[in-house]
Amino acid sequence: MSIPYGRQDISEEDIRAVCEVLWSDWLTQGPAIERFERIVAEYCGVRHAVAVCNATAALHISCLSLGLGPGDRLWTVPNTFVASANCGLYCGAEVDFVDIDPRSYNMDVGALSARLVQAEHSGRLPKVVVPVHFAGQSCDMAAIRVLADQYGFRVIEDASHAIGGRYRERPIGACEFSDVAVFSFHPVKIITTGEGGMVLTNRDDVADRLRLLRTHGITRDPAQMTLSAPHGPWYYEQVELGFNYRMTDIQAALGASQMSRLGAFVERRRSLANRYDQLLEGMPVIRPHQIPDAHSSWHLYVIQIADGWSSRAEVFRRLRDSGILVNVHYMPVHLQPHYRKLGFGTGQFTVSERYYERAISLPLFPALSDDQQTEVVQALKTALQ
Ligand SMILES: *Cc1c(COP(=O)(O)O)cnc(C)c1O
Repeated sequence: MSIPYGRQDISEEDIRAVCEVLWSDWLTQGPAIERFERIVAEYCGVRHAVAVCNATAALHISCLSLGLGPGDRLWTVPNTFVASANCGLYCGAEVDFVDIDPRSYNMDVGALSARLVQAEHSGRLPKVVVPVHFAGQSCDMAAIRVLADQYGFRVIEDASHAIGGRYRERPIGACEFSDVAVFSFHPVKIITTGEGGMVLTNRDDVADRLRLLRTHGITRDPAQMTLSAPHGPWYYEQVELGFNYRMTDIQAALGASQMSRLGAFVERRRSLANRYDQLLEGMPVIRPHQIPDAHSSWHLYVIQIADGWSSRAEVFRRLRDSGILVNVHYMPVHLQPHYRKLGFGTGQFTVSERYYERAISLPLFPALSDDQQTEVVQALKTALQ
C-alpha cells in the first residue's frame, strides 16, 4: 500500500450535507453559499467572505478589485504555485518576484525592503504585493504592513495553504495587516469543497466589487446601477466586465460541513508535524523552521536534504519506489518556461533556487496514522544512505 503526500478527509456527515443540497431547490446561488461564507467570516473574524469557484479565480478578482491593470506591477515569491503570479498577468500587469527567507521559506522582508528602495528610485513601485503563507505558516505580516504604508502598495495574502493557521493569536484571514486574503479548498488543502476558493476582506468597497466580478459584473442593487431607473422587477444591469466565478451550493455545503472539523484537522496535522520533528532528529535533513508569531496550519511538512548526502532526485526516487508518494513544492515560478519567455531565468532568486534543489514534501494529512508516519521515516532513513 502506498502512502500519498496529501489526502482529503470526507465524513458521513459531509456526504449527508451534500445530499441535502442535491434534494433541495437550489444547486447554485442558493442559501448554502451565504451560510458557508458566514461560517468562514465568523471563524476568521473578518467582515466579508466571498466564495468563488477556486483560489485562482479568487486571486484574479482580488487583483481587479484592488485596481490592478496594464502598466501596474505585482510582486510575489518564486516559491509558490503559479497562480500567485498568474493573477497579475491576467490583469495585464507586469509580474516580478521577491526572494524567500532561507529559514521560513516565506517572502524575505529584508529583500522586499531593498527592492522597494530600488523600485522607488526607478519609479517602478508595485501596486500589489502577494505574500504566500507557505505550508500554512504566516509571513511576517506586521513588517509587510509597515512597508505597504510607506510605499503605498496593496497586500493580497495568498493563504491557500493556511486556513486554520494563526498569526499573533488571530486567525489567518482576519486581514488585520492586508487588504484581502485568499483561501483554496482544493482537495489537498486543509479543508475542501472539491474545487473552491474564498476571498476575505474588511473593506466594504472591495467586497462589493468582488461580488460584482464573481457574477459577470451584473447587479440587481439599484444603488450600483448606472442607468436611470429599474424597468421592473426583472431588471439587472451589467456595470462592468466580470466572470462566472461562482461556487455551487453543492460545494458550499461540503465546505460548511468541513469547517466543523477544521480545528481537529489542524490539531492532527500539528501533532504529526511535531512527531516528524522528533523522528527526524539527528538525520541529515533540515526540518521546517517556525517563527514565534505564527501557528502553522501545517498544509505541508517540507524537509531539505543536507549537503553531502544522496541527491534530492535520488532520495525522491527511492521514496517513490518504496511507495511513499512524496512531492516537491515548488519549482520556482520564475524558472517555468512561460516566465522564462517573459525574461526570467536561473540565478535571479538564488535562495528559492537553492531551496528547490534540496526540498521534499513528506506525507502529511489528518488520516495519516502514526504507524504510516513511522514507515515514512524508516523509508527516508534507507533512502538517504
Ligand atoms: C492551491 C494554490 C493556489 C490555487 O488554488 P486553486 O483553488 O487550485 O485555484 C494558489 N496559490 C497557492 C499557494 C496554492 O497552493
